[in-house]
Amino acid sequence: MTWEERWHPLREEWVIIAAHRQDRPWTGETVKHQNEPRPPYVKDCYLCPGNARISGAVNPSYDGIFLFDNDHPSVGLDAPTPPATGSDVYRNRSAQGIARVLCYSPRHDLSLAQLEVCEIERLIAAWQREYVDLGERQEIDHVLIFENKGEVVGVSNPHPHCQIYATNFIFKTIETEVKASSRYLSEKGRTLFSDIIAAEQRDANRIISENETAIAFLPYFARYAYEVFVAPKQSHQSIASLNDAEARDLAEVLKDTVVRFDNLWQMPFPYVMPLHQAPTDGGDYRAFHFHIEFHPPLRRPNLLKYLAGPEIGGGNFLSDTSPEEKAAELRALPNLHYTMRK
Ligand SMILES: [Zn+2]
Ligand SMILES: [Zn+2]
Repeated sequence: MTWEERWHPLREEWVIIAAHRQDRPWTGETVKHQNEPRPPYVKDCYLCPGNARISGAVNPSYDGIFLFDNDHPSVGLDAPTPPATGSDVYRNRSAQGIARVLCYSPRHDLSLAQLEVCEIERLIAAWQREYVDLGERQEIDHVLIFENKGEVVGVSNPHPHCQIYATNFIFKTIETEVKASSRYLSEKGRTLFSDIIAAEQRDANRIISENETAIAFLPYFARYAYEVFVAPKQSHQSIASLNDAEARDLAEVLKDTVVRFDNLWQMPFPYVMPLHQAPTDGGDYRAFHFHIEFHPPLRRPNLLKYLAGPEIGGGNFLSDTSPEEKAAELRALPNLHYTMRK
């Protein structure tokens, strides 16, 4: 049983791994799952083709991906200018930015795991375009692309989609990773994330999926039971500079990873999936290595990882599971989606 603290070199913080606690009795609330098959089209879904959205806009009869500006944006170019605070300690400013929604497929009943590799390649191409187009804008310093999946992370509409927040600031985790990566490069002359990949390859115990140019692994310092990082092996500051072969390889490894997630408990596996990419504010980000992170909130089919005293109160994670054991679990699963098996 693993019982130790592990250093998270990207976040520069300790993670307590206390795997001997995982079987402690639980009498609290458990999570119920809806596992009934969904129809391919839903009349009142605001993401399905041909349907009207709350803004009055009508979705086109799209047949690949579909991108639109969020009807309830958290940041917007027309956000109001707030009144001055009149305080030395409190600051404010306009919530400038662009918020978009990107549907993966016209099919309401599919998920990333059920898309064909070529469809995921088209999705990657869209992510590349959005990063470049939004990042080029003077007022945008960072482009955060993420997918929230599952009711337990607050998603009410299961239609497969991700969101894009292009903001006038750099999100905190990216800022932390940028600083850690830059310091590492100047101290060691090497890229931090490349060294993490090399360490995972040397150890090999936590690798989930790998091909010529892409890799998925459950990191040594994982904070969540089934946390997985997916990345190109070559260092790229963002997804935009992947060539076609690298994009294809990334699509394959990404699919393999999410299929294993769904196969774990034979149900749609919830997660938060951010793409971590270099800021677009014109800074020097040579040290940054683009990667995709999966943060799944469940540690058992019906049991949430609650964020409590250590995480919310103290800011460091307590993990009740061994990364090596969880990686072995994922690796042992078939890579054909359970809905495709007879
Ligand atoms: Zn839909
Ligand atoms: Zn990251």
